[in-house]
Amino acid sequence: MNRRDFFGASAVVGLGLTGASAFATQTTEATDKRADAKLRISSQVGPAPGGSLEEKLAKIKQYGCEAVEYGGECVGKGKEFRQKAENEGLKVSVICWGSHNGDLCSEDVSKRQPGVDDLKRALETAGEMGANGVIYVPAFNGQTKLTNQEIRKLLLEFMPDLAKFAKDCGTNIILEPLCRMEAYFLRQVADGASIARDVLRAAGIDSGIGVMGDFYHMDTEETSQMGAFISAGSLLRHVHLAGGVENPRRTYPGENSMTFVDGFRGLKYIGYQGFCSFECGCEAADKEEGFKKSIEFLRAQWDEA
Ligand code: MG
Repeated sequence: MNRRDFFGASAVVGLGLTGASAFATQTTEATDKRADAKLRISSQVGPAPGGSLEEKLAKIKQYGCEAVEYGGECVGKGKEFRQKAENEGLKVSVICWGSHNGDLCSEDVSKRQPGVDDLKRALETAGEMGANGVIYVPAFNGQTKLTNQEIRKLLLEFMPDLAKFAKDCGTNIILEPLCRMEAYFLRQVADGASIARDVLRAAGIDSGIGVMGDFYHMDTEETSQMGAFISAGSLLRHVHLAGGVENPRRTYPGENSMTFVDGFRGLKYIGYQGFCSFECGCEAADKEEGFKKSIEFLRAQWDEA
């Protein structure tokens, strides 16, 4: 079939049904999962009010969050950090691990395996803590000399085995797209989702890697926050909560003018039940009051979406 025949045949098939609107209705009904969606809030330790880790965990719970997001300090200490969360009635959402200086995607081949080994240790810890995944950034700006094309190809070489490893640990590698100020490789949620999809296909598995969306980065890179989350669909494993680029930049949601309604609509549409986790600064003079207000703001935005 040549190109003209293909389009001709498509048009006939389309007209053979009841027109374009019938397609739209069928697709919408088949994929609309709004009834399943839940706003489940988590917080990194840094953005939470309080002094000690124990105090912060208690505040996270007090204001209605379900989980804590740890940084790399928990790696190798899964039982201990899981217990700290459980003592306050919290789950562990994810480990925010980062890029390991871009080593896994370095042009210096000798740096790659130590990076892979450390990511495996983080995945084991995530599994021990019952966490949904380990957030991984292939490379921040300046951390590799490889081109975007080379990084994507390289990821498809080593990620299938890592995704299988993650699945065996009962967790996921979670690719985090960043804004161009921080990374030129992997800036949009749909791009991360397509990498995750290709890795899953190559590995022949259905979970072990996914993507996340960070409202702060998305404010620069996405033309539609709703569209971005819908593009990720079932591959969306985590969300970071922060105000956008307008001043005061990247603060508690509600402290600048950015609305979350459009993005939350997308999360509702895909029936998202993962965590949305605070990763942001705070403008309020009273951090505890600011945290409380921000959670109230987010719940109101969710209701509006
Ligand atoms: Mg983030």
